[in-house]
Amino acid sequence: TSTSNELEFTRGNLLVFVNPNSGSGKSLKTFERRVAPLLRRNKIKYELIVTTGRDHAKSVVKTRTDLDCFNGVMILSGDGLVFEVLNGIVDRKDFVALLPNLPLSVVPSGSGNGLLCSVLENTGKSLKQKQLMSSAVEMATSTSSKAIPVSLFHVQTDTQHLLSFLSLGWGLMADIDIESEKWRKTLGSNRFTLGALIRTINLRTYRGRLSFKPYEENIRFATSTFYNVYPETPNSRIRKQAGIHSDESSINGTTDWSELHVDTLVPPLSEQTGPDWTVIEDEFVGVYAVTLSRISADGPFVPNAKLDEDRIHLTYILKRDVSSRMDLINFLSAIESKKHLDMPFLKKVEVSSFRLNTLSEGSFIVVDGEVVDTKSVQITSTLLKTALFAL
Ligand code: ADP
Ligand code: MG
Repeated sequence: TSTSNELEFTRGNLLVFVNPNSGSGKSLKTFERRVAPLLRRNKIKYELIVTTGRDHAKSVVKTRTDLDCFNGVMILSGDGLVFEVLNGIVDRKDFVALLPNLPLSVVPSGSGNGLLCSVLENTGKSLKQKQLMSSAVEMATSTSSKAIPVSLFHVQTDTQHLLSFLSLGWGLMADIDIESEKWRKTLGSNRFTLGALIRTINLRTYRGRLSFKPYEENIRFATSTFYNVYPETPNSRIRKQAGIHSDESSINGTTDWSELHVDTLVPPLSEQTGPDWTVIEDEFVGVYAVTLSRISADGPFVPNAKLDEDRIHLTYILKRDVSSRMDLINFLSAIESKKHLDMPFLKKVEVSSFRLNTLSEGSFIVVDGEVVDTKSVQITSTLLKTALFAL
């Protein structure tokens, strides 16, 4: 039925994940006081799971044989738990078929809620703390059948295939995110400010090779809709596998990811990049790529990024382009007012795919705010989408 971004879903039964330790630790209270009463009033059934630690939500999503009995997944945490849920789905045999049928909602309880803020910004809603929470609760508990599609990107690491909806960072911004996690409880989203200060004072740079394929509009993406992503992939083997039920052999691992890519000519991480790729080997302050406009409520990193688009907005800073630490303090503090984009040392390019090979030790590669253990990584636009329940 759908050609653009109006999707139709029912919400009879939701799977709810509450991370009691996200953000400043109020998510369970928020669920009990604000969310559950509205779900009851709107006669939306739910199963509540309070996560006990890292990867709990992921393993639930990965192993539940009745996952197709739910109409959606609600998450009370930050982007990290959304990432876990999506990648739990990726690890299932029925992932390509299941993904478009499990819309998400997010009630912001984490210190970083880039997905929710990007969606709300695109629909013209306020991102001020109080309004952010009430819009999110309303979207998560309403009986509306609408949902907004959000493009997903394929992340290939040395050992696994992942899906990302938000960001890939290495160096400066990744270090700030990870090193500031210890202040999550006491500082909430202010943890990023303190982290930024400390990291620029003790600035580290890393050697790496960054390769990218400049963005080109692709007819495969332009003509794909949320519902027919799957039948559009020409490979009939995948087509058959999507109908396979949970007890049969695993799709992830045997999935032909190149068939799900928007540009089917992107080589896998194990193979050399082609002549149409740009390669930069240098000393980096950092690499930061986003596929959505906001990395947090006060982080409009690429304000013109769209929700449902196959473009990756890649940025990087080379050590030799930065004259002092002050440059970087100015850069980080300018993000809130969008002035960081005018700084000449921040290089920006729109790509369909990029690859990062780290060449020095001790750096983190961070996808959607979560550390991924790998020395190299490649991110590529796909035909896959998730959706956020809307009003
Ligand atoms: P924040 O925005 O505060 O970083 P996220 O949702 O991004 O919140 O991150 C939460 C992290 O906490 C994820 O890595 C998730 O795996 C992990 N997690 C989930 N449940 C728990 C728990 N009960 N205790 C500690 N960590 C948890
Ligand atoms: Mg996080």
